[in-house]
Amino acid sequence: MTAPATSADTLTDLARKAGIIGAGGGGFPTHLKLSLAAETVIANAAECEPLMAKDSCLIEREPDSIVTGLRLAGEAVGAKRLVVAAKPKRETAWRALQTAVGEGVELYPLPDAYPVGDEVTLIKLLTGKTVPRGGLPADVGILVQNVETLANLSRAGESPVTNKYVCVVGAVKKPLATVVPIGYPAEILVRLAEPEPATVVLEGGPAMGDPVDPVEAHVAKHTSAYTVLPENSPVIAHLRSTLALNRRRSLTACIQCRLCTDHCPRWLTGQTVRPHLWMRALCLGTGFDRLAGDLWGCCACGVCELYACPEGLSPRKVALQLRERMPQPKRDEMEPGDRPLFGERHPPTKRLMGRMGIGDYDRQVEWVEAPPTERLRLALLQGTGHPAKPVVKEGDEVKPGQLIAEAAAAVGVPLHAPVEGTVVEVTERHIELEVR
Ligand code: SF4
Ligand code: SF4
Repeated sequence: MTAPATSADTLTDLARKAGIIGAGGGGFPTHLKLSLAAETVIANAAECEPLMAKDSCLIEREPDSIVTGLRLAGEAVGAKRLVVAAKPKRETAWRALQTAVGEGVELYPLPDAYPVGDEVTLIKLLTGKTVPRGGLPADVGILVQNVETLANLSRAGESPVTNKYVCVVGAVKKPLATVVPIGYPAEILVRLAEPEPATVVLEGGPAMGDPVDPVEAHVAKHTSAYTVLPENSPVIAHLRSTLALNRRRSLTACIQCRLCTDHCPRWLTGQTVRPHLWMRALCLGTGFDRLAGDLWGCCACGVCELYACPEGLSPRKVALQLRERMPQPKRDEMEPGDRPLFGERHPPTKRLMGRMGIGDYDRQVEWVEAPPTERLRLALLQGTGHPAKPVVKEGDEVKPGQLIAEAAAAVGVPLHAPVEGTVVEVTERHIELEVR
């Protein structure tokens, strides 16, 4: 099913030319999402990972852009229902949205639980529909977009995406949020927040982030946060566990209580995602092939290992390790199951933070102006899809908003210079600019 023509085609084209991708972390090219019809568009302001703050800061600064982007997206896909889903707990942002939403836009209050911002969970909450395992929100007539993506969409015809809202949280003296040019060094942001000694930096939130070397990492269009955690944090232990270690631990400790499955948000929406079964298969060393759909249905939220498992095992990490060895199966055609406890079993954020050992880091972030940088390093692959192809060479002078790499495939977006400067390096992976 494709979306209606005319204005939809125009917005889709503008989004593609502006290089817009999902700004909440997924990084999927927005023009592809806009090319599918939907009855409902949801602006996702859940910001459900603990400690996260960049969306709240964006909402406080430009709520009208979000609503404009939502209306444009709704028109493009032919939607009848437009919803902003946010948490009343974030009082300033909630009030800003109450003022900004006008006629024809609902403001939906989300519980302060994790992971209500997972789009499959969000869709179930707002519409009662279950996205098929391995499918897309468009399969049930829904489009979900992060609020920053919608703000970018509101100015798609005027300016490409060259800036990013981002926060630095966790084991730091000064948790902060700011907006920086794409390609900005993570190292400067982390240093600005004054990290505690003996810590690890994750790109993303504490539940779903991945460890990065801040010296090498640079802000991309889908970067939402850098989370600093102590090296001895249980979160880091899960992330560093190997498959062999997980098997040894599971053999001695997995009691097949199935709490990992009973609390799994994807299972609770009605999808067939059963982590206790792949933990059993891991112990037995067989039966993985039959579980490929389950393994690929995992959204890596971490509820099973960070909250549910009484034995401290790592079903999420095991799923990510096992599915590296098997192709992703096609979309599930089976009917979703009935899960009466959906809505009752999502971990309250405070309790989750307690179990993760990060409750002490739940502090107000400060909005700061990031210091200027001499260099920007822009990755050619921003988010999901194919890397962009450079159209500049070393020594070229560039202006703000100038195209520096073009989309090389349908699933990909172009890249634009955020500032005036000189191209000093072009590799297979990035373009580096010296800022004027
Ligand atoms: S919750 Fe832990 S102990 Fe229980 S089945 Fe899952 S992995 Fe095994
Ligand atoms: S990480 Fe665990 S809880 Fe989350 S979707 Fe995967 S199996 Fe379910």
